[in-house]
Amino acid sequence: MEKSYELHDIVEMKKQHPCGTNSWEIIRMGADIRIKCQGCGQLILMPRREFERKMKKVLHKAADKD
Ligand SMILES: [Zn+2]
Repeated sequence: MEKSYELHDIVEMKKQHPCGTNSWEIIRMGADIRIKCQGCGQLILMPRREFERKMKKVLHKAADKD
């Protein structure tokens, strides 16, 4: 399964956030990835490897035009 993701993409994780939303924006990319819950705004930082394991799919590419 290809997991191609970029800064500002909106992604779905394998587990939804306790607030009931499963939509996250990638707001920082490096050795660690920082994502922001689109429901409640909580920020979560995790190592890239963990992020790739927990991320289910990209919902919306930042580069896409609406
Ligand atoms: Zn949330």
